[in-house]
Amino acid sequence: MKKILNYINGTLVEAKNKQWLDNYNPSLGEVYSKIPDSDGSDLEDAYKAAHAAFPGWSKTPKEERAKIMLKIASLIEERSDELSLAESMDNGKPVKLASAVDIPRAASNMHFFATGILHYGSESQQLNSVAINYTLRKPIGVVGCISPWNLPLYLFTWKIAPALATGNTVVAKPSEVTPMTAYLFSEICIAAGLPKGVLNIVHGLGHKVGDAITHHPGIKAISFTGGTKTGEIIARTAAPMFKKLSLELGGKNPNIIFADCDFEKALKTTLLSSFANQGQICLCGSRIFVEKPIYEKFKVAFIEATNKLKVGDPKNPQSNLGAIVSEEHLTKILSYVALAKEEGGKVIAGGNKLTLDGELSGGYYMEPTIIEGLSYDCRTNQEEIFGPVVTIAPFETEQEVLMQANSTVYGLSSTVWTESTSKAQRFAQQLEAGIVWINCWLVRDLRTPFGGVKNSGVGREGGFNAFNFFTEPTNVCLKL
Ligand code: NDP
Repeated sequence: MKKILNYINGTLVEAKNKQWLDNYNPSLGEVYSKIPDSDGSDLEDAYKAAHAAFPGWSKTPKEERAKIMLKIASLIEERSDELSLAESMDNGKPVKLASAVDIPRAASNMHFFATGILHYGSESQQLNSVAINYTLRKPIGVVGCISPWNLPLYLFTWKIAPALATGNTVVAKPSEVTPMTAYLFSEICIAAGLPKGVLNIVHGLGHKVGDAITHHPGIKAISFTGGTKTGEIIARTAAPMFKKLSLELGGKNPNIIFADCDFEKALKTTLLSSFANQGQICLCGSRIFVEKPIYEKFKVAFIEATNKLKVGDPKNPQSNLGAIVSEEHLTKILSYVALAKEEGGKVIAGGNKLTLDGELSGGYYMEPTIIEGLSYDCRTNQEEIFGPVVTIAPFETEQEVLMQANSTVYGLSSTVWTESTSKAQRFAQQLEAGIVWINCWLVRDLRTPFGGVKNSGVGREGGFNAFNFFTEPTNVCLKL
């Protein structure tokens, strides 16, 4: 059985305690590889390697750093088929999704930040004829990057790339649930000639390895993407140590559809924003609000389109949805469907676990699900489910839908469908969200600020925001 290894000081190694965890293929419900059950002592080795590598890497000209990162990007592209298959086996997502979205995006993350650093400047202010101030942007040192299972290599590289580009050295922990592509990425880094210790990847459990990163006094900044509860735990430990924190957390995003929208576009995109990646994207629109005049028409068309989606073998290009990431997560999603029924909701599409034929019979599949008839403030409409489950409800006034859209503790993203520019602008102003999409969804420009408000996070990543996070500014005041 394949064994995934840690990447510490440029070398692929087992955990020091020689313990292993099972790694499941969710499409089969079977263990298919082993991952190191690392602990604090492996993390300490990774930290020491990163600490030793920092002086060299931070002084390496940025053109050189960019060159190595671009080599990594091109090796990701070269190994795209293998990486897409690996991502699908680890996560359950359709291979065609991994090869169209996850893996190209991992390559473009490396490419974007490698070239971005060449254009990164800093501010200066002249105080009349008295003095001139300019800002130095220095790398922080050893930084920690912790990423989730839903978009494994995509989010892993989203963090690592700006950290490396700015001259930091990194200790990173991918999700224990989906470690395979991070392991393949470590092979790529070795092949690309990344100097030893610059990036260290420690596999294992969140409460062991992730916790050791959070507690380590030498790790001065942490970029974390994951659930809001985990973000809280990390913040509680890291804040009194005055670590820099970037927290990209959960969401319960509204998708608001006005009667004056382009109906077909709204319908087609809503299908994606509801169920892409089995609904396991932090930006999925899980609460659909439809203006009353088109509610019935939209609902009927949406149910029909949802029922046509094919849940099946992730390797089959005809499958729209693959497997849910784990049995535990499937159980959690199904418990929310049961809760929705208790809360008075009516399941109008899907709602059930699916058992597929043959070798897929042990896999974790479920039907894409639509629920109607719930109040906006019930638990189903307030808590993050993170699966192929959406609720749908009619609304009559702008005021009403705005209040309902903003009623959760989250504020990651929102989508608004309307042909009225002024209405779209009004909503963009008033929605409590880090990102508002108007007449589109998941259209990403990597230069833009990315992050959430309220319990969806702290800070912004993307473009120069990420470079600002991974550097410390020093203001220099020069008397004229
Ligand atoms: P988790 O919070 O469970 O895990 C995220 C990462 O943190 C994993 O690597 C996990 O390790 C690790 N971790 C767990 N416990 C600790 C701890 N005590 N200290 C340090 N690290 C720890 O999230 P999921 O992996 O379940 O991902 C789903 C969540 O991520 C959803 O809430 C989703 O909304 C959010 N998300 C947010 C995004 C955003 O940009 N805002 C984007 C994508 C997802 P392990 O896996 O081993 O437990």
